[in-house]
Amino acid sequence: MNFSDLDEKTENISQEIFNLIEKLYPICRSITGEGVRQTLKIIEREIPLKKYEIATGTQVFDWKIPKEWNVKDAYIKNLAGEKIVDFKKSNLHLVNYSIPIKKRIQFNELKEHLFSIPEQPQVIPYVTSYYSENWGFCLEHEKLLQMKDEEYEIVIESKIDNGSLTYGEYYIPGKSEDEIIFSAYVCHPSMCNDNLSGTAIITALAKYLKKFELNYSLRFLFIPETIGAITWLFLNQKNVHKIKHGLVLTCIGDSGNFSYKKSRIGDSEIDNTVEEILKKTENKFDLLDFYPWGSDERQYCSPGFNLPVGTLMRSVPTKYKEYHTSSDNLEFMNKKSLQKSFEMCFSIISELEKNFDEKKESSKSKLNKKNGEYYVNLNPMCEPHLGKYGLYNKFGALTKIDTMKTAIFWILSLTDGTNSVEDIAKKSNLELDIIKKTIKILEKEKLVRFYEKV
Ligand code: ZN
Repeated sequence: MNFSDLDEKTENISQEIFNLIEKLYPICRSITGEGVRQTLKIIEREIPLKKYEIATGTQVFDWKIPKEWNVKDAYIKNLAGEKIVDFKKSNLHLVNYSIPIKKRIQFNELKEHLFSIPEQPQVIPYVTSYYSENWGFCLEHEKLLQMKDEEYEIVIESKIDNGSLTYGEYYIPGKSEDEIIFSAYVCHPSMCNDNLSGTAIITALAKYLKKFELNYSLRFLFIPETIGAITWLFLNQKNVHKIKHGLVLTCIGDSGNFSYKKSRIGDSEIDNTVEEILKKTENKFDLLDFYPWGSDERQYCSPGFNLPVGTLMRSVPTKYKEYHTSSDNLEFMNKKSLQKSFEMCFSIISELEKNFDEKKESSKSKLNKKNGEYYVNLNPMCEPHLGKYGLYNKFGALTKIDTMKTAIFWILSLTDGTNSVEDIAKKSNLELDIIKKTIKILEKEKLVRFYEKV
């Protein structure tokens, strides 16, 4: 398969990708609700989708499908009756999953529910509160400093009710049942790089690749981040052995160089293939070893699945200043980058196709014979719902991953019976003492247990 077989100039494809981002940008999305459905409807104008609705309350591994969230309106009015914060002007103004509320409120109380970024006074941050009942508004810090009234009127017309989680899937059968999956998430409100760029690029890939007759079957997933990946893996656990390669696409439309985060396996064919292509085609790129936080690779690469799924990005999430703010907008997108990202994915598939018959020895991790203390993760299929154990901070999106959280993620990722406590400390680059302390906490919560090696 070659670019020349595409029957379409790649410049036109990058324009199509950009147009789709533009259409999806205004929608208020979340992990459930009408925003996801509207998004899938627009994607369906490009490719046929099979859509799924999974009911609230359905148990998926350690998680439950949450209630569905929808919003009509939300604002803050000052004493003069002016709307000073208005959801209709930017859906980022409302903390995602805010409960309904309508009241007059003293500024002192209100300010506990206001979020801004003092270092970037002109942008609106993106904040979520998915699994703890709360409400809040996000605004420009300079606007917050201008709030001088003693009392304000706040209105949040939202609904949190039984409903469902929605996701979409498109499957292109190849000659073989062996699959390559492409995963993007459709749960972020008005932001472009994170992750309309990923969504639009996999849509274009699906649209243009269906014309080819390939050895591999291709599967494109449009799911809400984390809970969507967990749900998909739960419902498809019998078939995941068909997944031979996979890519999560996130933050892939900005002007930054490519970054590739390897799968947890580290030297799977997808890892080697992407590395080779990057070396051949790019002057500058970042190659990152797997770390147990980030996007949906966390679930695909959880120790119980350990799938060969890498993450293709440009600027790495959390590491660029537009991340999770209103400045991750249409102007932040670079059409040339979108085009090259599309071409990169195309080359990766084309290389995997070329090597289809060459069955490579997969590198199975060998059982560690060293002495030492071992623990096993009792929830190895996807990550456990840490929030319900009271280990998480309440507001997910703004919190920096602190040492404790980092230790938890590493321990849960590495307690597969092959890494001793010392190995975990070494691989995570954290102090042994912190690892030991954190293990004790996880053991108490029955998330890991001591493992007697024989
Ligand atoms: Zn994000």
